Amino acid sequence: MPWVDRLSEPEELRRCIRDLVALSTLPAIWKDYNSRQIADSVAAALLSMLNADVIYVTAPGLRDEPVADVVRMSHTVSIGSSGHIERILRSASRGSREQISAIDNPFGTGTLRIAAAPMSFGSDAAIVAGSVNPQFPSETHRLLLGIAANQAALAMQRRHAEAEQRCLVSVIERSSEFVGFAHLDGTPQYLNKAACELLGLSGIEEMQRLNIFDFMAPHERTRALHEALPMVMGTGRWLGELDLRHFRTGEIIPFLVDWFRIDDKRTGHPTNMATVSRDLRPQKKLESDLRRLNEALEERVSERTSELAEALERLTLEAEERTRADVRAQKLQLELLHASRLSAAGQMAGALAHELNQPLTAFTNSVNAGRRMMANDAPHRVDTIRDVLDEAAEQALRAGEIIRQLREFVTRGETEMRIENLPDLIREASHLALTGTGPHGVQVRLSFDPRAEAVFANRIQLQQVMLNLIRNSHEAMAQSEWRELEVVTARLDDESIEIAVADRGSGLPNDIVEHLFEPFHTTKVDGMGLGLSICRSIVEAHRGKLGYEPNCGGGAIFRVTLPAPLER
Ligand code: ADP
Repeated sequence: MPWVDRLSEPEELRRCIRDLVALSTLPAIWKDYNSRQIADSVAAALLSMLNADVIYVTAPGLRDEPVADVVRMSHTVSIGSSGHIERILRSASRGSREQISAIDNPFGTGTLRIAAAPMSFGSDAAIVAGSVNPQFPSETHRLLLGIAANQAALAMQRRHAEAEQRCLVSVIERSSEFVGFAHLDGTPQYLNKAACELLGLSGIEEMQRLNIFDFMAPHERTRALHEALPMVMGTGRWLGELDLRHFRTGEIIPFLVDWFRIDDKRTGHPTNMATVSRDLRPQKKLESDLRRLNEALEERVSERTSELAEALERLTLEAEERTRADVRAQKLQLELLHASRLSAAGQMAGALAHELNQPLTAFTNSVNAGRRMMANDAPHRVDTIRDVLDEAAEQALRAGEIIRQLREFVTRGETEMRIENLPDLIREASHLALTGTGPHGVQVRLSFDPRAEAVFANRIQLQQVMLNLIRNSHEAMAQSEWRELEVVTARLDDESIEIAVADRGSGLPNDIVEHLFEPFHTTKVDGMGLGLSICRSIVEAHRGKLGYEPNCGGGAIFRVTLPAPLER
């Protein structure tokens, strides 16, 4: 034993044994000490055992502890020199690991001999002892120093390991995952709080009466026994979904199970099994919610798609129908235009005939009268003959005027719509309608609402309507005793105006009313039955309406409703 001095004195031997025993008891005292307290305690013990002048212990702080730097001295020195000594010993310890060195004695004269022993933390952890004793350090001193350094290092490391273990246990305890250990035969050893709660277990006693296969849902046991367990034992790990069961409610709970084997580090033999498993219910619920949402969304999308497809089909059909209607309308319009032209031509011819009939009759009568006078050869009648001829000329001029007016009416060629003065338009049409109709004694009353003075229309066409209605009314009153024709305009509301043509004529029999606006329905010998149907077409082309109603007390009222032009 090369490190043992020859202890010649029994006293010395006893002292050495006593010191060794004292050192061996220290770890028990250090049970609850932190690193600094351990360093201080070991420094105090060594100061006395080695009869040293100074002991310096330095150890790195483990985990959250600060570095433990402790100096113990046999002398009383000032605080300033204590720091100085510490610095000297620290550098001495670095340079002289397990070496003996000597420095100038910082406490007085002579030499301070130094011995250092490293602590098994690596780095700078060490215990340094200094003594002015020229025999220092003996082998016994070095033995005691080494043992003390080992004891202190072990105590500090154990403290560190215990702290880590405590930390680990608290993490496992607080984990929301299912954590458990079991013997290799399946007897549970430990379940954390979360595991007990998830399976409805009251605690360790209840758990110990069970086997890990009891934790599983019955339908999973065979798979766990023949598939998962052999894999755990063979490869060290099995990871998969497994249904466990709640011991109180019987609820089947899906888990993601990480099941692994724990081996002895030294021998490599399996010693335990453990698991960290996750309750999959929240995840499954989320998945099923998502699935339901997705399905609802898909359903909604497909509903909307088919709705859109239907709408598209409807729109296509409507568009086709509209195109067909447009074609029909165009055709009808062409027919109406044709009929209108026919009617206008017929009316113009009729009007011409009517208009011209009277002045031409008067003209013929005058000329015949003149001829008779001249045949009688009575010169005293020259003045009378001149008067008669003047009258004839006047009638001829009147006929010419009628033709001129009609030509003007027909050849104005206005086809565009524009804002027209409604009273003027009606006055003109009424004058034209009644000119040459002869003395029927019809009382005409025109009444205009000042709020319905403007109309957006094609003047010629609207006048044609008025002309037709007024003529019909006039003709219907040919046999009436009470002959009153009224044309009244009125503002109905913000959006429409009305022109009513009312008479005290024969009125309309029911069979005529039924077909009133259809072409070629007439009660007149010389009528074409086109007037009203053309009137309605014209009014509708103006986005208006033409309607009939009987006049109370006898006669007819035709009402033309038209959109009022915008204020601006
Ligand atoms: P027409 O004047 O060529 O017969 P219309 O279409 O103008 O063609 O009129 C159709 C028929 O409606 C007339 O034949 C007549 O019997 C009747 N009618 C039109 N207006 C009146 C009215 N104001 N009073 C009585 N009957 C009318």
